[in-house]
Amino acid sequence: MLDKLGAVKGRIFNIQKFSVHDGPGIRTIVFLKGCALRCRWCCNPESQEFKIQTMVQNGKPKTVGQDVTVDEVMAKIIKDMPYYKRSGGGVTLSGGESLLQPEFASAILQSCKLYGIHTAMESTGFASFDVIEKLLPYLDLYLMDIKHIDSEKHEAFTTKPNKRILENARKIAECAKKLIIRVPVIPTFNDTEEEIEAIARFAVSLPNVNEIHLLPYHPFGSDKYAALGREYTMQHIVTPSEAHMEKLKAVCEKVGLKAQIGG
Ligand code: SF4
Repeated sequence: MLDKLGAVKGRIFNIQKFSVHDGPGIRTIVFLKGCALRCRWCCNPESQEFKIQTMVQNGKPKTVGQDVTVDEVMAKIIKDMPYYKRSGGGVTLSGGESLLQPEFASAILQSCKLYGIHTAMESTGFASFDVIEKLLPYLDLYLMDIKHIDSEKHEAFTTKPNKRILENARKIAECAKKLIIRVPVIPTFNDTEEEIEAIARFAVSLPNVNEIHLLPYHPFGSDKYAALGREYTMQHIVTPSEAHMEKLKAVCEKVGLKAQIGG
């Protein structure tokens, strides 16, 4: 079984070890290339295109994207087994959007489960539910972004409407082992108490969902846009203050959710 899964190929742009974000404990994060959305604030713009790209940083070209087998990914993952065991950690698929490479994502998740490793996926859920459904048996935790309840505003800032995402959130909530809703809090997009309350009310209406994570905007990926020959359009945006994030957290708690700032 491992042989067959190990031969599956996919495209990644990074593997980050010893992460304490994006799921419990110490984790290895596998970043898959390709995303259907184009969020204006995206801190991994090199994740968006599926094609292999060149970034020019400090005058030096750097290739972004690499085709690998599941065996190659697993060889890196299993090196940290003792850390996962001691910390209650595991592996998180991130991106990009793993749902654009479903066979590859599924083979990594299945391989992790054969090793007894906890699995999580960070995803915006923008795919056919048939694709999502096939991954759910191998996922311990689905970390799903809900960015805005207003579809027009969602489309204006991400290039895609939210209907499919909201519909899938309900289906995922019904079938997933655990679903946590995550909200990137972006000033000028979704950072008012009313906008966060609308997302929180949607989250609490989902079956089996009781937790929300609010992720404050940060500009850390902004330099990468120039490195890709692209313009960063959010340079005027300021990271929300701690006090404002606390206010938004309180809004989510009032609605009945367990809320945390950061993921
Ligand atoms: S969904 Fe995530 S990876 Fe895709 S463009 Fe938006 S922020 Fe970037």
